[in-house]
Amino acid sequence: MHLSPNDSNEYKYLTLDNGLRVLIVHDSNAQKSAAALAVNVGHFDDPIEREGLAHYLEHMLFLGTEKYPKVGEFQSYISQHGGSNNAWTGTEHTCFFFDVSPNAFFKSLDRFSQFFTAPLFNEESLDKERQAVESEYKLKLNDDSRRLYQVLKETINLEHPFSKFSVGNLETLGDRNGQTIRNEILGFYQTKYSADLMTLTVVSSHSIEEMTKAVTDKFSSVLNQSLQGKSITVPYTTQDHTGIKIHVEPVKDIRKLTLAFPLPNVNDYYKGKPLSYFAHLLGYEGPGSLMIALKQKGWINSLSAGGGTSGSNYREFSISCALTLEGIEHIDEITQAVFHYIHLISSNEYDEWRYNEKQAVLESAFRFQEPTRSLDLASHLVMNMQHYLPEDVVYGDYMMQDFNPSLLEELSGYFTPENLRMVLIAKGEITTNRRNGIILPTLFLTFLQNRLNDLIKKLSSSFLFQSVTLIYATTSIQSLFSNLSIRLK
Ligand SMILES: [Zn+2]
Repeated sequence: MHLSPNDSNEYKYLTLDNGLRVLIVHDSNAQKSAAALAVNVGHFDDPIEREGLAHYLEHMLFLGTEKYPKVGEFQSYISQHGGSNNAWTGTEHTCFFFDVSPNAFFKSLDRFSQFFTAPLFNEESLDKERQAVESEYKLKLNDDSRRLYQVLKETINLEHPFSKFSVGNLETLGDRNGQTIRNEILGFYQTKYSADLMTLTVVSSHSIEEMTKAVTDKFSSVLNQSLQGKSITVPYTTQDHTGIKIHVEPVKDIRKLTLAFPLPNVNDYYKGKPLSYFAHLLGYEGPGSLMIALKQKGWINSLSAGGGTSGSNYREFSISCALTLEGIEHIDEITQAVFHYIHLISSNEYDEWRYNEKQAVLESAFRFQEPTRSLDLASHLVMNMQHYLPEDVVYGDYMMQDFNPSLLEELSGYFTPENLRMVLIAKGEITTNRRNGIILPTLFLTFLQNRLNDLIKKLSSSFLFQSVTLIYATTSIQSLFSNLSIRLK
């Protein structure tokens, strides 16, 4: 396993007989002990008529097990021993974690392991937890980032599981036909949760041997249903979902423009991180950069590149700008400038020194990383275990070891106007034009979706050279680019 020279922890990776992958971390300075368990099951797995079920299950799992039947026993044990616990449900994963004083760690781990071997799904807690899910849903109605997330869900391929409503509420999780939902939760748990989809990380000052024994004793009985290798074959977007402009009206006075390009999954390239090459250049903030040029125009306050939604068969690459009031009037020009810059990158040779520059930044972050809290370390590494090979679970986020120009070339082919999803978040005149066919109790949104045909035509014909004057009135492309190279070196 590749470790930072600054890292004094000891690591041991093992796979239990039931296929559960475990990472044991001995940190002699750890003030608290922590454990995190991730399972490759999330809201994508929800039955279409039971949206939010994976999330509801995450809540219910904490509420009583055969060995510790009392509701709330786990939480009170943990908090009596100076700890905390939490969980989250994502698109394709659910993660449970806690920390506690070292002297109560193994007893806590015993309680924790029961969630995955003998949960009761207490009938009397069903309604209370459903209310808790409902409150989360209501809380999110006025949260702009959740509203935007919901718009994204409704504007991609509706056949793709990303389009499902993830949180759940009283309606999607209600009892039906005189039956409680309990059997459905149980059925979901029994068919989806499987040891070979799980990863577990424990971090503590206890010895590796003690922890290995505890984990093997407590987690070997988790059932293995041999479900590894699940895959999604439905595309995230088709041509109906790209080349579009989406206008989202926020609750707060936010002004933001995001230019997103859907790509296929690039997870397998984590050792090389090809998209970092583009993010590094597009997000550069120094002199000669795209950001400076747009700032000097008075159109943006900040720019970032490289983010976006991602999953096992999709990855969005986005360029996001915080707009000024004036910037709102210049969306098309900003977009042209971004395409112009992309063209600069892809029409020139891919330079290894640029790649190495970003690599050096990551490498130094890895070498000089600060010690992390046990809970943060456990919940971070447990997800790395879901994505990276065993030898890379600690280093994977920082690896850039494969400069591959032909792959860069291939990826740049996705940065086209036809593949663009332009999202404008700003208050303003918006006609409500909700998409047909939404049957879900989705968040209340107003958004307008326009085909960008006109803009695409304009961009395709002009973004190369004519538009240079729009942004870079005093400089030609070539001089801008050589300028850029000098600045970046
Ligand atoms: Zn929740």
